[in-house]
Amino acid sequence: MEKVIGIDLGTTNSCVAIVENGTPVVIPNRGGYKTTPSMVAVTEAGKRLVGHIAKRQAITNAENTVYAAKRLIGRKWNSPQVKNAVATSSYRIVEGPHNDVRIVLRDKEFSVPEISAMVLQEMKVIAEDYLGETVSKAVVTVPAYFNDNQRQATKDAGEIAGLDVIRIINEPTAAALSYGFGRNIEKTVAVYDFGGGTFDISILEIGAHGVFKVIATAGDTFLGGEDVDARIIDWLVSGFKEEHGIDLRQDRMALQRLKDAAEKAKCELSSVRETEVNLPFIISSGRNEALHLQRTLTRQTLEELSDDLIERTVDICKQTLEDAKLGKDEVEEVVLVGGMTRMPKIQQSVQSFFEKEPNKGVHPDEVVALGAAIQGAALVDDKQEMVLLDVTPHALGIMTFGSYFEELIPQNTTVPTHRTKIFTTSRDNQTAVKILVMQGESQRAEENELLGEFILTGLRRAPKGQVEIEVTFEINADGIVSVRAKDLETGLEQSIQVTATSGLTKDEIKSMMENAKDDLVDRRTSEEFEAAKQEAEKLIGEIEKLFPQVQQIVASSDFGRDAIEKAKAIVDKARAAIEKRDAAAVKEQIEGLTRTHRMFKGVVAKT
Ligand code: AMP
Repeated sequence: MEKVIGIDLGTTNSCVAIVENGTPVVIPNRGGYKTTPSMVAVTEAGKRLVGHIAKRQAITNAENTVYAAKRLIGRKWNSPQVKNAVATSSYRIVEGPHNDVRIVLRDKEFSVPEISAMVLQEMKVIAEDYLGETVSKAVVTVPAYFNDNQRQATKDAGEIAGLDVIRIINEPTAAALSYGFGRNIEKTVAVYDFGGGTFDISILEIGAHGVFKVIATAGDTFLGGEDVDARIIDWLVSGFKEEHGIDLRQDRMALQRLKDAAEKAKCELSSVRETEVNLPFIISSGRNEALHLQRTLTRQTLEELSDDLIERTVDICKQTLEDAKLGKDEVEEVVLVGGMTRMPKIQQSVQSFFEKEPNKGVHPDEVVALGAAIQGAALVDDKQEMVLLDVTPHALGIMTFGSYFEELIPQNTTVPTHRTKIFTTSRDNQTAVKILVMQGESQRAEENELLGEFILTGLRRAPKGQVEIEVTFEINADGIVSVRAKDLETGLEQSIQVTATSGLTKDEIKSMMENAKDDLVDRRTSEEFEAAKQEAEKLIGEIEKLFPQVQQIVASSDFGRDAIEKAKAIVDKARAAIEKRDAAAVKEQIEGLTRTHRMFKGVVAKT
């Protein structure tokens, strides 16, 4: 049977695994390490270095050594995340020809997928050395919260590396696969994954016979250990500036040394209470005098410096539980994944939020690659009983008349899936419509990510609203999106498979949106929606009238406060559905509103 490797392409480190004789194993690299730094460098002689050897020379070759390229993959040049990376990286990041990002190493520009490809290729070679044969197929993991562009760019990296990426899977899902593999358990688990560059949380139901169903997922693709390191660097730099009046950021080599020292101190503080940062000869003062940096960092200071970052992960957990419609007590196990979960403060925060001790039984650096290998083996071996049902992390939809984002596939929908909605023309005698395909959570189209566009032409001339266009979205198991639009009367059809849009500049996108405005489809204001809206608004009005009274009566008990919070959430959701003019979603909320109204009336009647 063909061998498929599983690769965890991490921000800081990467890891490769394979299933051998039914057992998933991590493949060590030539140095015997199970993880390899996701670092790439070019030496003065033009030689490419990847992994540990790139890391070892990073200080003396800071400008030509790339780390954390994953933070840039699939991102546009003008994005705030790229601006942040440009300001803080020791290597040069420049604008590419298509509003994309390029990294300059020894005067040569590389795209981000090319850099990631070098890391993937290294992982491929590590596997080939170990297996003694060539490997061409891989399952590669990505943060659950990656959007379509970031996923596509990762797939491109695989292709550049000469790998057939047979499936892209989400990191926390892979971790859950590894956690549940061969244990025949039935459990609801939360996977809290805090790595070098990204944070993800996924809530899954692990069922009998190897069924892994993701219920909800969320995260932040720019929140990780790198940000904690950056806080330590800021603290060191500002302390040094106060003392010597010199900004260490001006010196790339100093910056790279600071980065190493910050990460080292952070890791040490997971086991000791204080550590010394000692960087002799960090810079020379104008008077030819070498200056040293020496400062003691305590665990408490580190916790203060990173407190808001940890809080952000907890807020995301809270939101995800709400999305999953689960209480904390319904999550039976919390699995910690990612190197950052070794930090005691993170473990404490997770424990106090979920009100249970998290499971530290899985190896945080290896579990994701192991899960990818398990999925890889299952894809080529029909005998393996395993079903993986993942969800789409972002809502998908189109831009409609008035620059609204009309959602077709909601966030956290199980994939593969397809959804259809009917739209109408927005102008009299409109003969063409433009379909702008978008991904995101905002109701305002321009705040979401544009994935692609196409035009359906040759429509029958008719007054506005009379030509009906059926739009169908489809997401396959790889998470790749395709969209189809059809004129219901003539059967005329157009479709696209959405691929990465790094070929568009921000201005192009802006003008595309601007130009498209007149040719957009309109939302259908159906009687169905109006009826649902009326009913929902009536219930909201009555609930709100009872609110102050109910609050007074029940606010003294935990149960009562909880009920009030839930009621508020239901009202908010109903309002959002009305705002979106989504008949189905409003109807969904009516049940909750009716229940809340009944409960409120009951509470008031009893007193
Ligand atoms: P990952 O992306 O899962 O490989 O996680 C890497 C991140 O975990 C990096 O930011 C590391 O600095 C961080 N990390 C690794 N070990 C520790 C540790 N003992 N304490 C705190 N952070 C750690």
